[in-house]
Amino acid sequence: MEFYINGQYVKPENENEIPKYSPVTGELLYNFPSATKTEAQNAVDSAMEAFPAWSATTSKERSMLLLRVYNLMESRRSELEDILMKENGKIISEAKGEVDGVLDQLWYYIGFERKLNGDFVEGDTSMRRIIQSRVPYGVVLALTPWNFPAAMVIRKLAPALLCGNTVIVKPSSDTPGSAEWIVRKFSEAGFPKGVVNFITGSGSTIGDYLVENRKVSLITMTGSTEVGMHIMNKASSNMAKLILELGGKAPFMVWKDADLKKAVDTLMWAKYSNAGQSCIAAERLYVHEDVYLKFLQLFKEASMKITMGSPIDGTMGPLINRKAISNTSKIITQAEENGSKVTKMGLAAGDKKFQNGFYYNPVLVEDADQNSNVFQEEIFAPVLPAMSVHNEDELLKLANDSKYGLASYLFTRDIGFAMRLSEGIRFGELYINMPGPESSQGYHTGFRMTGQAGEGSVHGIEEYLHLKNTYIDFSKD
Ligand code: NAP
Repeated sequence: MEFYINGQYVKPENENEIPKYSPVTGELLYNFPSATKTEAQNAVDSAMEAFPAWSATTSKERSMLLLRVYNLMESRRSELEDILMKENGKIISEAKGEVDGVLDQLWYYIGFERKLNGDFVEGDTSMRRIIQSRVPYGVVLALTPWNFPAAMVIRKLAPALLCGNTVIVKPSSDTPGSAEWIVRKFSEAGFPKGVVNFITGSGSTIGDYLVENRKVSLITMTGSTEVGMHIMNKASSNMAKLILELGGKAPFMVWKDADLKKAVDTLMWAKYSNAGQSCIAAERLYVHEDVYLKFLQLFKEASMKITMGSPIDGTMGPLINRKAISNTSKIITQAEENGSKVTKMGLAAGDKKFQNGFYYNPVLVEDADQNSNVFQEEIFAPVLPAMSVHNEDELLKLANDSKYGLASYLFTRDIGFAMRLSEGIRFGELYINMPGPESSQGYHTGFRMTGQAGEGSVHGIEEYLHLKNTYIDFSKD
């Protein structure tokens, strides 16, 4: 793997390499380079130099280049699906689903050409006006996670570039391959040199250097709350604008009048897609006491049928790395030690080839306390704690009792109850009687420790534009 800086593929200057293991087989997939500070600085300088000319282009020109990327990606999408299956361990339907999402987002942003308007505002006297124009920030640093390694790159690159910013992409060290593939499409599409730059390396070695860099004006990061907090601290040294899309702990709420079959089907998606490694994954189950046992029975029966072990035939993929396995086991052991009932479900890999993969069986945790880690910390695995609930007020209180505030789900046929809950819920997204994920035209944002600002929709595009004021007096004397 090479870096892409100033329109050139450059060989890494040192031989420090990071190993990438296959989540599917546990084998070494490849090694990739770790950028030095000099290389990181070269990427920043290149983006800085490219900015004046790029920001002077029209949004139509920028959008037309994005359209070329769209066409390139669509015609070669199976390559990206293959990388997602190998590098991330996604099962084939999830890999295809992510690429569908990538294309949908790109298409959505392309449509915003000539729509990045400002305002023409009345002045303090009749012959005065204020032109409020929306202008790009400058150099954007895009730090992306491994769980949706292609979608998260496009969700940052496309709006940032459409708005006239230049970008440095630093992907997760668990999934650099999909980001590299995407950046190559930008290079093939003919983006001018320096507009898109790509380096790899661990966040803990080059992250601070990039984040604190005075030439970086906006940092868009999707990842854990812990790293987000660290970045927020470091970015105080350059006052870069921050878009932070961090962890989640979605409550999945099922009321006594719900369509239980539909709720179970949705929970199967919300809990097990991406092996539970999704920021909007159901991480807490709250069910009305009247249907609690029945619903749990249906959920267990469905979960028992989960199969693992092959990206083609399996219904759930592996965790991303070995550390994720030990972190998940730790939280389950703790729950057991605290007296919770733990039920292991699903079928492990039959094929020897996959037995060293990072697979983790679905786990249901009952009788856990709301204040325990299993209900409060983001687990990011196919593990679900469940609790029965007595009334509306209790449900709302339990659902909002989380440091995270991204997605939430509610199943009920009672419109009045649904509306009351939607008024009180303090989460960026509430899905009523339906699964996610978020739409390109929705504003994906979180409350509390899930971060700040958001992505998607016109509001997400506006995050990449600074509002500049020009005051003008046109009176005759
Ligand atoms: P992570 O460990 O926080 O890493 C995210 C990105 O930050 C990676 O590129 C990482 O690089 C980089 N990084 C780490 N330390 C850094 C530093 N000191 N300075 C600059 N960059 C640094 O998160 P992850 O494990 O990849 O992703 C999983 C998390 O993402 C979960 O918490 C999930 O909920 C969250 N997520 C949120 C959303 C949302 O929309 N809210 C969407 C998807 C995922 P390295 O990999 O090299 O360390």
